[in-house]
Amino acid sequence: MDKNKIYEIVGRLQPTLEAASRYIWENPELGGSEEKAAAYFRKLMQDAGFRLGETPDVEHGFTAEFGSGKPVIAILGEYDALPGLSQKPCAVKEPVSEGAPGHGCGHNLLGAGSAAAAIAVKEILEAEGLAGTVRFYGCPEEELLIRGKVKMVYHKLFDDVDFAITWHPMCQTLVWDGAALANVSARFYFTGISAHAGAAPEKGRSALDAVELMNVGVNYLREHVIDKARIHYTTNSGGLPPNIVPPNADSWYFIRAPHMSDIRAILERIKKIAQGAALMTETDVKIEVEGGCCEILRNHAFADLVQENLEACPRPDYTDEELKFARELQATVDPAIVARDEAIFGSVGEPMMKSAGERDLYLKAPLTASTDGGDVSFAVPMHMFASACWPIGVAPHTWQAAAANGTTLAEKGALYAAKVLAATACDLLTRQDVANAITREFEESKDPDYAPMVYLDYEK
Ligand SMILES: [Zn+2]
Repeated sequence: MDKNKIYEIVGRLQPTLEAASRYIWENPELGGSEEKAAAYFRKLMQDAGFRLGETPDVEHGFTAEFGSGKPVIAILGEYDALPGLSQKPCAVKEPVSEGAPGHGCGHNLLGAGSAAAAIAVKEILEAEGLAGTVRFYGCPEEELLIRGKVKMVYHKLFDDVDFAITWHPMCQTLVWDGAALANVSARFYFTGISAHAGAAPEKGRSALDAVELMNVGVNYLREHVIDKARIHYTTNSGGLPPNIVPPNADSWYFIRAPHMSDIRAILERIKKIAQGAALMTETDVKIEVEGGCCEILRNHAFADLVQENLEACPRPDYTDEELKFARELQATVDPAIVARDEAIFGSVGEPMMKSAGERDLYLKAPLTASTDGGDVSFAVPMHMFASACWPIGVAPHTWQAAAANGTTLAEKGALYAAKVLAATACDLLTRQDVANAITREFEESKDPDYAPMVYLDYEK
């Protein structure tokens, strides 16, 4: 199918995309409370002729599909914001409302771009009389990492899906062939015996001692885990006066690593350390693994197809005003980071990355993030790519990203992403050899023991 025709159809949806992106940006809602965003996208998709479906346990999620039969192509959109990142669309740090949430990760663009792509694919299915189903997934709670899509996979909402595609706003345009870390969240609750710390310390068994000894033990473990593992912890223990032996204390851990299998191994060792700390202090420990999300499973054939579409699609033209804003915003970022990113992405002196990065450029980019989309990639063949919406050097979860996400500069990156999503979907619908290669690679590389690591409240 002529790709220019696809770009033209998506191009006609530019006002729809911009209106959706701007509405979500102006009404930022945290993960788990995306009431307005979900209502907006449900109505948008229903008005466009899609049938709506429910997502159990994911209150502000939904599916919207059009067409019938195979293949079923999923296009994933997100829309949650981040705490404390309220920001005006300007090049100085200035919140709309101090301390309020803001779209510092660009999920307003991600939702709007993906929805526009799904509507375009519907129009193409109709115009070309093609067989197949396009299904938009409204995916809330992404910033919570271990919830939204992990629960959707748990409830088998991807079981009839053949291919899933999504994207993320960034400062660069490139394929991410497996680029994300697995992540697990676990809590350790220690219970001891309270006593007067002055009058009868020998009667007390301190839960806080157990937390401290556990953390010391884990810090010794760091030398004996793989280099790429990250172990973070916090504690909200204490609060009692020091003359009372603390009977309750807990610590909260995140473990990240390139593969979920690495994490499972590290988690088992951390559990032993917690039990050791309990033994040393004569306290009890209750361990609660809250959940986790997998890394993105590589699929080279899928990445090749997306690369082809990233290169084929014309890059956005920016106005002088947009480029001036991009330069001003970039000037607020640490020059060392801008220089590092310019060197990696080959964009020296240009605030916006001009062309799509070469096929394996993602390997050179620093990789420290996790996404709940990883679990989708373990359930069905999936690809997630990055589209440049921010000046080179601007990172996600910053006020600079939040500022850009409310402007036409970033909306142009979302429109480009929508074109690439729609063109990729059309290839999957019409190029059987390419589709087969992606499916074959997934079947050969998928983990037969994969199970979503999700623990729902009613199952505890
Ligand atoms: Zn994000």
